[in-house]
Amino acid sequence: MIEDMARRFAETEIRPGLEAWEEAGEFPRELYTKLAELGWLGMGYPEEYGGTPAPWSVRNALSITLGRYTGSGGIMAGAFSHTIGLPPILRHGSAELKQRVVPDVLSGRKIAALAITEPGGGSDVAALRTTARRDGDHYVVDGEKVFITSGMRADWISVAVRTDSDNKGAGGISMLAMPGDAAGLSRSALKKMGWLCSDTAHLRFDGVRVPVANLIGEEGKGFKIVMTNFNGERMALAALALGMSECCYDEALSWARERKAFGSAIVNHQVIRHKLVDMRMRIESTRAWLQSISDRADNDQMGPEWVAEVCMLKNHSTQAMQFCADQAVQILGGMGFMRGTASERIYREVKVAMIGGGSEEIMKELASRQLGI
Ligand SMILES: Cc1cc2nc3c(=O)[nH]c(=O)nc-3n(C[C@H](O)[C@H](O)[C@H](O)COP(=O)(O)OP(=O)(O)OC[C@H]3O[C@@H](n4cnc5c(N)ncnc54)[C@H](O)[C@@H]3O)c2cc1C
Repeated sequence: MIEDMARRFAETEIRPGLEAWEEAGEFPRELYTKLAELGWLGMGYPEEYGGTPAPWSVRNALSITLGRYTGSGGIMAGAFSHTIGLPPILRHGSAELKQRVVPDVLSGRKIAALAITEPGGGSDVAALRTTARRDGDHYVVDGEKVFITSGMRADWISVAVRTDSDNKGAGGISMLAMPGDAAGLSRSALKKMGWLCSDTAHLRFDGVRVPVANLIGEEGKGFKIVMTNFNGERMALAALALGMSECCYDEALSWARERKAFGSAIVNHQVIRHKLVDMRMRIESTRAWLQSISDRADNDQMGPEWVAEVCMLKNHSTQAMQFCADQAVQILGGMGFMRGTASERIYREVKVAMIGGGSEEIMKELASRQLGI
């Protein structure tokens, strides 16, 4: 049922406006409300905050289907930025903070984002430099964050900061829920290769005062919160990459059946058929692996091997997406180079999937450590 609804929603509410939103560099805010009304912003969240509990398999079905039929990572990253911004608050915030933040976001009234990456680097989270100095019942935040999805619009930003300036490593890091209208917070929009309709921001904090009540979890325990949060983000990215790969396959197959060359539809040329099969091989292996990993998450079997598999799946799924985008553009020929085809857009969106949420190199490094190699 979710798959049917998501397909209809993508085809009627997103695809018709997508090209214009990509040109404009933003999608309408009403999209949040529409997704909330369907219960999709709150999927997987507790009922007491307006959510609908759902296992990973169902959440994945939504991401895969929306990805497949919108063919837009920009919509998915922007409209669902709360899926990386909210979990730290939900899992580690005080009851009062959760009540203040979560219901408004799940109902589409407010937008949430996550800010970890800094101009000095994103992979080495333990080295982050943004500071939060305690002053009475506030923290005073100074520093910068970069490449923040929904950073321009966000009403709540879960920010990783260094609360202990004597501890330059992981132990000095904490997380704060920063209101988007805080004095001293300035934002500027960044131009990108893809995900054009999502907003991506550079944030500056100049003496931003954040109440101590907005501390997420304990002081000095932020690094673990950040790291645990990545597992969900990476599974969601794998589901999205799968949907995007299927979108490329659908477009390429449909084109190959229509397009004629040398007296026949190009799908009748063996080389083209083999390209499509090569795509399907990668799509089906990604689907099976994602299912296995999310089943284990649903059954609380999330040990080091599972973490390693999440990292490896993130790489496998995004490599599958890269392969499928490349093959689809090739099958579409000159048309694959034209704006307006999904394959062209996805071809431009591949690199962020391979870099964001932990780059390919970092995924291999983390997997090797979890596996004890
Ligand atoms: C469109 C977009 C949206 C994003 N959204 C968000 C967001 O909402 N919130 C957020 O916090 N961040 C966000 N990011 C940031 C993203 O998570 C980082 O770009 C990513 O983690 C990599 O960090 P970096 O760009 O600083 O690269 P760096 O850490 O500087 O790395 C550069 C290169 O060196 C490699 N490298 C680094 N260390 C090693 C090593 N030990 N061994 C081998 N190779 C290494 C990396 O793999 C990479 O190839 C977003 C990025 C983009 C492009």
